[in-house]
This record gives sequence, structure tokens and C-alpha cells, in this order.
Amino acid sequence: MSPTALPAQPTYRIASIPADGIGPEVIDAGIQVLQQLAESLKTFKLEFKHFDWSSETYKKTGKYIPDGGLDELRKHDAILFGAVDVPDHISLWGLRLAICQPFQQYANVRPTKVFRGTQSPLRNCNTGDLDWVIIRENSEGEYAGHGGRSHVGKPWETATEVAVFTRHSVERIMRFAFETAQSRPRKLLTVVTKSNAQRNGMVLWDEVAKEMSAEFPDVITDKMLVDAMTTRMVLKPESLDTIVASNLHADILSDLAAALAGSIGIAPTSNLDPTRENPSMFEPIHGSAFDITGMGIANPVATFWTAAEMLGWLGEEEAGRRLLDCVENVCEKGVLTRDLGGKATTKEVTEAVCDEIRSTLGQKKLVV
Ligand code: ATP
Repeated sequence: MSPTALPAQPTYRIASIPADGIGPEVIDAGIQVLQQLAESLKTFKLEFKHFDWSSETYKKTGKYIPDGGLDELRKHDAILFGAVDVPDHISLWGLRLAICQPFQQYANVRPTKVFRGTQSPLRNCNTGDLDWVIIRENSEGEYAGHGGRSHVGKPWETATEVAVFTRHSVERIMRFAFETAQSRPRKLLTVVTKSNAQRNGMVLWDEVAKEMSAEFPDVITDKMLVDAMTTRMVLKPESLDTIVASNLHADILSDLAAALAGSIGIAPTSNLDPTRENPSMFEPIHGSAFDITGMGIANPVATFWTAAEMLGWLGEEEAGRRLLDCVENVCEKGVLTRDLGGKATTKEVTEAVCDEIRSTLGQKKLVV
């Protein structure tokens, strides 16, 4: 390398799957902001490849993911996912879970906080009072896919949904949760359970949590029944920090968390394969929001935060932090979509974040 040459910039290959509803709108916004960030920082490059796997594709071809699709996805460093038409079990199992399960994305990470410039619906809950990370077990529990239906249509029709808890999977998610709690300043971990009523899987869950706590003496743990947890989240948000819960429990609690932080349009989700054998997948927590699709008013902030989490996972933690900082600055300036009490459109918020990146990190304007 000549003395004047700049160090080589890593290039990250990102697969984008916008999918349904407002997915394409918020993923477009996310890519625009990520490209501006890369252009301003000049420390890494991003290459996007788009996959049109959606409910539309399913209607035309009978498949969400074409043959060989997962092998194509595997060639990427990360996946940026929009939203899938969730009430339909065919779309959930045909697309989202069809990626999460084979790619062993067993840790679902859902941070939530009250952004500067936004308001929680809770009286007296300000920025800093609610700052949580929910760790959701993402491979089994109530969504393991075990069960079945027989005697369909008969009065004695039977359907079962078996909640599966294996020591292997509970141990790996507990370890991940303890490590997450340990990496945060307060080192608090709340283990959500329902072992009073679910006396097998959830008792194993509690036992593994207790055993693992011996390996993490600096992490303070407590245990909450899921029903009591909902009231604690509302009444004492400041008492919580890192939370670990089963697939179903965390699914519900994280929607509550997003609403308590101000809007479901803010919060991100990472579906991580901590072994790093497969690409991890990053998506906003919200669904396809068909009621506002095409209106240009979807809040892109959840996707921006998702993009920041993705950068962190790729090893670009500083870039992720800077992106999130720019997003919070824009919220603080009052550029907010309708769900947060503002009037700005998706495009206006996106442009404001790109302007903020340019003014704080670098001047060059991207032509998109
Ligand atoms: P799905 O069936 O895909 O889960 P849904 O409509 O049941 O979709 P969400 O998509 O999460 O569930 O939407 C719940 C509510 O929150 C809707 O009224 C929707 O308009 C609103 N919402 C969700 N995401 C956003 C967003 N990014 N910006 C603004 N409003 C949003």
C-alpha cells in the first residue's frame, strides 16, 4: 500500500426483502439512509440485492421462496426484511419463519426506548425511563411448528399446538440473554415465565436460568410471571432493563413495549444467528400495516433503527450509533410522522435524516 492510500473499505452484501404492505416503502427509506451514511462516512460500502418474495409473488407462483432461494440468501452478509402479511399463517410460515428456522436465527433481539423528541403514552415516563432490550427465544416454544389437526370439519375436530422447550435451545438463549445483560450498564436481567401454570417447559426454562446465573455473578436477575410482567412494564418501566422470554410471551410483550415507547413505528428487531454460520435478518417490529399502505405516511424510524442494529452486527458499531443519533436528532427537531403526533410524510422524515447525516458526518449529497 502506498503511504497515501486509504485503508480498504469492507463491502457488505445485503439482501433486501421488502415483502408486503408498507414493507417496500420503509425498506426504500432505510436503503436511502444507509447509502447516505456509507457515502458520508466512507469507511464501508454496501451492496444491495432485492428479492421480490412477497404475498403477491405467492399468489402468482404458489411459493414465497423459489427453489434454491435460501442458497442465494446465504451468499449475503445480512438480510433487511420489510413486513409480511402476518395474520395469515401461510405467509408467516412460508416466508419469515422459513428463513429464521433453517438459518438458526434463534435469538430475536428487540430494543425499545423513548426517543428524544417523542412521548410515551405513560404519564411521567420520559427519555431514559424506558430503555429495554427484550430477548425473544426464536426457534421453538409455542411457535416450534409441532402439532396438528385431525377430523377436520367434524364436531370432534382436534387441533394441537405443542409448546416445545429443549435444554439445548433454552441454554443457548439464556446464555445470549445473560451476555446481553452483562454488556449493558445496569446488568439487570428479568426472566419472564409462566411456570406456575405451564409446569414442564417453563419449569425447565426457570431451572436453566437459575443454573446459568451462577456463570454470571455480576448480572442481577429476577423472575416475573408473564401476566404480572405486563403490569410492571406499565407501572414501573424504569425497573426493567434486559428481559428474556419465550417465543410467544416475548412476541406479545414486545408489541406492548413498542406502544409504551410511543409507537410501533419506532422499534426494530434482529433475528440473529449468534454462531454466524448464516446471515442474520433485521426487520422493523411492525407488520404490514395495510390500513396505511401506499399513503406515504408510514413511519420509517423503525427501519432506520433496524438498519443501525444491522450495522452493529456487521461490526460497524460506531456507524450504527451515529445513524441512531441522527435519527433521534431529527425526532427532537419535531420531524415526526402521524403515529408520533406529527404531520411529516415518510419521504420528509427520510430526507431530514439524510440531511442530518450530511450536516453532522459529511457534506456530499447523494443523488437517488
Ligand atoms: P400485520 O397483519 O402485518 O401484523 P397489522 O396491521 O395487524 O399488520 P401492524 O402492521 O403492526 O399490524 O399495525 C398495527 C397498527 O399500527 C396499524 O394501525 C398500523 O397502521 C400502525 N403502524 C404499524 N406500523 C406503522 C408505521 N411504521 N408507521 C405508522 N403506523 C404504523
